Amino acid sequence: MICVPITAITTAGALQEIQQAEEVADILELRIDYLADPDLAKLLAARKKPLIATNRKTDEGGKFPGTEAERLKLLEEAARLGAEYIDLEWSCGQEVIQRFKELTRGGKSRIICSWHNFQETPQDLNQIYSSIKSTGADIIKIVTQATSINDNLRIFDLIAKAQADGQEIIALCMGPCGEISRILTPLLGAYLTFGSLRPGKESAPGQIEARTLRQVYRIGELKETDFRLYGLVGNPVSQSQGIYIHNRAFQHLQLDSLYVNFLVEDLASFMRDFKGYLCGLSVTMPYKQKIMDYLSEVDPIARRIGAVNTIVKRKNKLIGYNTDIIGAVQAIEAVTAIAEKRVVLLGAGGVARAIAYGIARQGGKLTILNRTPSRAQTLARELFCRSGGLEEIQNLEADILINGTSVGMAPQSDEMPVPASVLRPGMVVFDTVYHPATTRLLEEARARGCLTVSGVDMFLRQAAAQFALWTGFEAPVEVMRSALKW
Ligand code: NAP
Repeated sequence: MICVPITAITTAGALQEIQQAEEVADILELRIDYLADPDLAKLLAARKKPLIATNRKTDEGGKFPGTEAERLKLLEEAARLGAEYIDLEWSCGQEVIQRFKELTRGGKSRIICSWHNFQETPQDLNQIYSSIKSTGADIIKIVTQATSINDNLRIFDLIAKAQADGQEIIALCMGPCGEISRILTPLLGAYLTFGSLRPGKESAPGQIEARTLRQVYRIGELKETDFRLYGLVGNPVSQSQGIYIHNRAFQHLQLDSLYVNFLVEDLASFMRDFKGYLCGLSVTMPYKQKIMDYLSEVDPIARRIGAVNTIVKRKNKLIGYNTDIIGAVQAIEAVTAIAEKRVVLLGAGGVARAIAYGIARQGGKLTILNRTPSRAQTLARELFCRSGGLEEIQNLEADILINGTSVGMAPQSDEMPVPASVLRPGMVVFDTVYHPATTRLLEEARARGCLTVSGVDMFLRQAAAQFALWTGFEAPVEVMRSALKW
């Protein structure tokens, strides 16, 4: 279930938020501590969905300004008015929790006993769980701060323990490293997850928009426990489009699969501890080379390129591939054949290496130009082709010009890797930069009668190749394109 916190500061605002939240929420959480003028009778009468009444103390991350007695009085009122759940911090003590249990006996309110740690995810979560369990609360809520992606695993273990005990639990990690817990814990058996009403309305760090939980991650639709997990490993990962396109493709083909972002700082411990959960991965900066140390096999062409951007798990073995090469070749061949064409590739970094191998494999006559000519020369030696500095473009005739440098990428989207004067009518110009989707190079090329290929096409096709490797199905490329958030 998805619970949307109501964080308006006035009763009038909260009434509006309740109405909006009910379109996407299964449960509402009324944050009484945010309200300057809490009219609980009005608010509880207005809601159609079950409601958690929370009046959070300041030392547990809340905003309630009054005394402890005033704080508890409002929660008692909410219980009398029929709130389905009352959230009481474990730090209230057994006596208070007991009083609320008696107060709600025979009524319909259930007690959620909550515990927060805003600094870390401590080692002794089981002990905390046992202490809260001994209060006899209906639902245990444990929320910690993730300082590394692996902290989420301690929360997953806790949920498994609660399930074995037949104990209902809400457990998650806050912060950017804990984002995956907000998506995965309801699928692993947690009672609910929290999602914000809209951006800016988060009641805790790392909270994902409820609509995204529902529409992108399909919370409420995916089968619990029986789903296949994929994701992007990198740092940073927040700009990734993979979550939109892969999840939409899974949904389109009705696959019980899910794709999330793994923000990883320590690759070794991530690969060691998460392996059991994963069916496949996309890999991005800065791990495309380092990841090879953790794989059972690496596809020979990926090994030669020196970069893996896709991992598939087969028979418990992790196998690495490079789909940038397929993505680039397919994007170009959608507009022109490569064989025998004069191809000038600008750049000698990661993406340029994959493209250079792709062009050579398709029989293109390749020249590699780079700001640092020695890097171009190293790559050219591997492929037995010509190389030089970027300025040599002036002396070359090209049928296909490829920008494999990062020049033109936002925010420097006004820049071009070569002057517009080298662009000739009929030339095919492919820019691997995909942010912005139409770069200045592509705009100038179109204006001069060139055929253009965008980095978005390459991105989609490399993702489609990943999808096919993972699932064995042909990827619905146009469905994936429609899911892009650019
Ligand atoms: P990289 O390994 O860091 O390589 C960067 C390349 O750009 C190098 O050749 C570098 O030249 C050159 N360069 C950087 N700044 C330059 C400047 N001011 N003037 C001239 N050349 C410059 O990066 P990468 O991973 O290959 O990524 C390159 C681009 O490809 C990025 O924009 C990325 O977004 C894009 N990309 C697209 C896709 C897709 O699917 N469409 C996939 C991956 C990457 P030096 O060798 O002289 O430093």
